[in-house]
Amino acid sequence: MTTVERQQWDVVVVGAGGAGLRAAIEAREQGARTAVICKSLFGKAHTVMAEGGIAASMGNVNDGDNWQVHFRDTMRGGKFLNQWRMAELHAQEAPDRVWELETWGALFDRTRDGKISQRNFGGHEYPRLAHVGDRTGLELIRTLQQKIVSLQQEDFKEHGDYEAGLKVFQECTTTRILKDDVDGKVAGIFSYERESGRFFVIEAPTVILATGGIGKSFKVTSNSWEYTGDGHALALLAGAPLLNMEFVQFHPTGMVWPPSVKGILVTESVRGDGGVLRNSEGKRFMFDYIPDVFKEKYAESEEEGDRWYEDPDRNRRPPELLPRDEVARAINSEVKAGRGSPHGGVFLDVSTRMPADVIRRRLPSMYHQFKELADVDITAEAMEVGPTCHYVMGGIAVESDTAAALGVPGLFAAGEVAGGMHGSNRLGGNSLSDLLVFGRRAGLHAAKYAAGLGAERPVIEDSQIDLAAAEALRPFSAEGPDETLTEEGPLPSTARPAENPYTLHQELQQAMNDLVGIIRREEEMATALKRLADLRVRARRAGVEGHRQFNPGWHLALDMRNMLLVSECIARSALERTESRGGHTREDYPGMDRGWRKVNLLSQLADPTGGLAATDPVRGQIRLVRKETEPIRPDLLALFEKEELVKYLAEEELYE
Ligand code: FAD
Repeated sequence: MTTVERQQWDVVVVGAGGAGLRAAIEAREQGARTAVICKSLFGKAHTVMAEGGIAASMGNVNDGDNWQVHFRDTMRGGKFLNQWRMAELHAQEAPDRVWELETWGALFDRTRDGKISQRNFGGHEYPRLAHVGDRTGLELIRTLQQKIVSLQQEDFKEHGDYEAGLKVFQECTTTRILKDDVDGKVAGIFSYERESGRFFVIEAPTVILATGGIGKSFKVTSNSWEYTGDGHALALLAGAPLLNMEFVQFHPTGMVWPPSVKGILVTESVRGDGGVLRNSEGKRFMFDYIPDVFKEKYAESEEEGDRWYEDPDRNRRPPELLPRDEVARAINSEVKAGRGSPHGGVFLDVSTRMPADVIRRRLPSMYHQFKELADVDITAEAMEVGPTCHYVMGGIAVESDTAAALGVPGLFAAGEVAGGMHGSNRLGGNSLSDLLVFGRRAGLHAAKYAAGLGAERPVIEDSQIDLAAAEALRPFSAEGPDETLTEEGPLPSTARPAENPYTLHQELQQAMNDLVGIIRREEEMATALKRLADLRVRARRAGVEGHRQFNPGWHLALDMRNMLLVSECIARSALERTESRGGHTREDYPGMDRGWRKVNLLSQLADPTGGLAATDPVRGQIRLVRKETEPIRPDLLALFEKEELVKYLAEEELYE
């Protein structure tokens, strides 16, 4: 039997980014004793990288804006596959969440008359992104962190203990959600300290997953090291389905040069503030790529697009501000047609559009990023940019109002790890607002759920802890498990050398990039599934040397389980959806098919007991289930012109 420390809390939040911290604040304010656990240092979560801003229809720069317009833009951006109730709540509540941040000490950039300033971003009809230069995520996390410290000071006054009601466990990784053997309710988590390797268990009747995204499964990505799809995998293993995992956003503008920084983000604010895209012939090519569904909303000529920056009411916006999926595909096509920049991207130019001092003031991080990493002065020359894996729209299937995960009582999810809100494509700025709106809702409902249980707490049996500990220790025994299978049958033990987790990771990233990337084809995705099967077999023999004290190879070996699970969900769903929509582009099915609008693809673990050992590694660990989307409420449909709905909705939906 493995002896580990057990602590008892009411709510445990896995993740200390914007969603996790906002959830923890709410749960604690509702009176729940709340623990937060995170892989990095407190205050260092991926959210600090967010640059452009938070979308909220405050109408400070254009008073035509309101929640209905924001809702419409979000649904259009997601090509009507959004969980519409989430999009509605998000549009309605985002302004309050931004105001609330200011009352907690955030200071956003101002308009001349002292209001919170708002900037333009792709797919948003009005200037809508509240921002702090191009470092908005940093201010968001700093403010939430400060709020947590102030709550801890209140607890100290009352209980003589700063951590009586809210405690952060930093640099710890959760590897399993534990459940009550009898009723299947959430009972806590199994985790280890990254520095010491020590295991511990937090007993809690509610777990909120706020672990962010999956980008580290792809070779070229803007995402940080934390994005190994842990929360997605933890939910799957606990029995909760993932929704529409085929939708992965490739941001159009990542750095392409030098190779060591390939994929690092170039914020959309550059285009929002007037930056233009040109190919190697100097042409502003985006005018050639305005799809029919957006034709009426975007400028037809460069002159009209340029006038829009000064007079948005009488002109249409330039096509550089189309939703990200459209711009990323256009760049991809230009490069493929041989009109790319020297390092395989296109040119993004802000130097001919704004004076140098304005560029340095409005885009300080971009200025430094290019100067220091690429020796390019963006006030004097164009940047080279190309698509980079940026965000996952797919995620844990949740109930819209409460953020409760489907199928597992006591499990909640918020932020990038949750699915549904953004449909098939997220608009820039809609993530930070999503974190605050649904982080708060997850905290609220998790606290209510825990309080409703009273003294009846789910129980964690020792046997579950033994299994979780054995799984975590497996990389230290180099020999693979006996049931290791290949397509040729079981391998003899002599043919089972330990595998290097770094090699496995590189091969996975290459396969996902090349075969399930921005443009997808049936044969390539089938090949990807074969490669994933091979990697799964080998990953079970991922071996590491040394001991448990800060051992990055061991951490990666454990993360591989998660990345392989998530990658399989993406590849299987992408192969299944025979249309192109938002972040999912099929070369063999280039059009959007109205029949598919009603289809959600749920990824579930093939082994219903939640284990991986019994699953045939060759056939795969994931099965797909189709689920119809809920009909959109008529008063929300009435916000759109009928002609527009015809482009998206299935025949029978229009009839209804
Ligand atoms: P995160 O902030 O990533 O937090 C995840 C947390 O989970 C971390 O604390 C991590 O340590 C923890 N964690 C993960 N796995 C485990 C585990 N197994 N055990 C314990 N802890 C774990 N969006 C916008 O709306 N506006 C922008 O301007 C914007 N700019 C962006 C710029 C960049 C460069 C990037 C990459 C993204 C940007 N985004 C932006 C997207 C946005 O930043 C993210 O979607 C968002 O921050 C995700 O927040 P989160 O709270 O869901 O997760």
